[in-house]
Amino acid sequence: MARRFAGGTLVIATHNKGKLVEMEDLLRPFGITAVSAGQLNLPEPEETGTTFEANAELKARAAVEASGLPALADDSGIVIAGLGGAPGIYSARWAVNKEFGPAMDRVERELGDNRDRSAYFVAVLALAWPDGYMETFRGEIHGSVIFPGRGTRGFGYDPIFLPAGETQTFGELDSEARMRVSHRTIAFRQLAAACFGDATPA
Ligand code: IMP
Repeated sequence: MARRFAGGTLVIATHNKGKLVEMEDLLRPFGITAVSAGQLNLPEPEETGTTFEANAELKARAAVEASGLPALADDSGIVIAGLGGAPGIYSARWAVNKEFGPAMDRVERELGDNRDRSAYFVAVLALAWPDGYMETFRGEIHGSVIFPGRGTRGFGYDPIFLPAGETQTFGELDSEARMRVSHRTIAFRQLAAACFGDATPA
């Protein structure tokens, strides 16, 4: 049985604007007061884990230790079959200076004539409490990568990700359509059911 979040302030342990906006949107219906790691000037820990779970947990734990408040962290990335799972947990690091144009070019270059374009986004959410307790949840959305990328919405690798069964990339879908299917939403729904329990969305 998962531990319930008793309410109050929750730190969103991210310095990524795109993720922050999505997490705030997801939390809003539950009436949870969210404050971001950026607003609190919390340091960004080094992502030394070798799995999405380990990195989400270390980010959540670092935010709890620095703030004394419960914290929600996300570790996410794109896993590309034809690249043996890369960039995976290194998705953010492929974007040197946070530039995703060159990161997407690198994906295309490294795939070369490999015809296996299947890919998925993963998001692992970790909710940590000040007593050290932690819950984690994983969401995935499967699809493929396409070149050239399309669309200017979203962030990161969105323009090159085409979800299975869709005709528009994550960069083209409007934010409502994207949020309905996104890996972060899938993970969040599990977290909300387990930890926000009966907290009825407003
Ligand atoms: P990290 O979780 O801070 O390690 O960063 C994960 C990276 O994966 C982000 O910087 C994005 O590049 C990429 N990523 C994760 N989720 C998404 C998404 O929904 N759309 C596009 N890129 C994403």
